[in-house]
Amino acid sequence: MSTKPVLRMGHPLLRQAAENVAYDEIKSEEFSQLIRDMYDTMKQEGGIGIAAPQIGVSKQVAIIELPEDSERYEEVEKTPLLVIINPVLTVLDNEKKGYWEGCLSVPGLRGYVERPQKIKVEFTDLDLKKQTLELDGFLATVFQHELDHLSGTLYVDKIKDTKHLSYEEEFIQFFRDEDTLE
Ligand code: ZN
Repeated sequence: MSTKPVLRMGHPLLRQAAENVAYDEIKSEEFSQLIRDMYDTMKQEGGIGIAAPQIGVSKQVAIIELPEDSERYEEVEKTPLLVIINPVLTVLDNEKKGYWEGCLSVPGLRGYVERPQKIKVEFTDLDLKKQTLELDGFLATVFQHELDHLSGTLYVDKIKDTKHLSYEEEFIQFFRDEDTLE
């Protein structure tokens, strides 16, 4: 395991636009180590996605994994580990749906965020291949949350009504039955 400390809201690096990853950097040992650090940190913290800036590396890469055996997200579509490099996100349908989001960089809080539910993401993968994914529903929200980190945006910026920002305990007590994302 090679875990790293997760930067928390308030750290200026989380508010910067991350730098593009150079094509020939992707196959480097340093980049492989970055992905391992991100993966181990995400697993240790119990997240389903993490972006490089969250462990202090201002580069355009995020990972997302919703394992098949994940019980917490029983009713949602699963995805194997995705390494998303230099992504470009396009909204295909602006109709929005809200989920209660959490973030490893904003520990202890949940907030209700509405986002477009049909998107397209073009990115480079670890094999240097261009990929295009069309996503909807919960996964579309997960992607938007993670890719926002690459432009210095946190989910709290997108909460329309701060009455829907809650500590975990109060969230469990008062809001848990609503859709959740963390
Ligand atoms: Zn986050």
